[in-house]
Amino acid sequence: MKFLILDRDGVINQDSPDFVKKPDEWIALPGALEAIARLNRAGWRVVVATNQSGLGRCLFDTSALNAIHTKFRAELTRAGGNVEGIFICPHAPDEQCDCRKPLPGMFLDIGRRFDIDLTQVHAVGDSARDLIAARAAGCKTWLVLTGNGAKTLAAGDLPEGTRVCADLSAVADELIPPSNKAQQG
Ligand SMILES: [Mg+2]
Ligand SMILES: [Zn+2]
Repeated sequence: MKFLILDRDGVINQDSPDFVKKPDEWIALPGALEAIARLNRAGWRVVVATNQSGLGRCLFDTSALNAIHTKFRAELTRAGGNVEGIFICPHAPDEQCDCRKPLPGMFLDIGRRFDIDLTQVHAVGDSARDLIAARAAGCKTWLVLTGNGAKTLAAGDLPEGTRVCADLSAVADELIPPSNKAQQG
């Protein structure tokens, strides 16, 4: 099964210690949108699962987040790609929800909504909590070295079998078989 769950900040777009609060602050990482488009063309379905505690912290509101995702989707469409869903944990860390990564709630929700076997799903993140959540849900894990990724790698203690790639484009290179790549020119 070709189904991929991506973290957002630090994987698709530049992360910010001050949070991405408005569309101007959402800046795609080099090659990331093109990587999603290449994966789509190779038959991969892609969804996003992202902690957005800035909502719970009242740093931005839902309409700002929707505007950010409108920009993301518009740029992705221009690059020829598509994501089938953007799953959000809106809670602050002290709200004790079950969806904030490292808890697996969003991944389990995705499994139910798409009726898929999560043990066959690949998940990409730049922080340990992404990988811990994904693995708790049974997914295969990939660490990218963009965003927090280099720090995450240096800290070690990744879920067993986590594969490490420079960025999302490099993950796509690994997931798309060479024959498929050739066809894509
Ligand atoms: Mg991240
Ligand atoms: Zn939550």
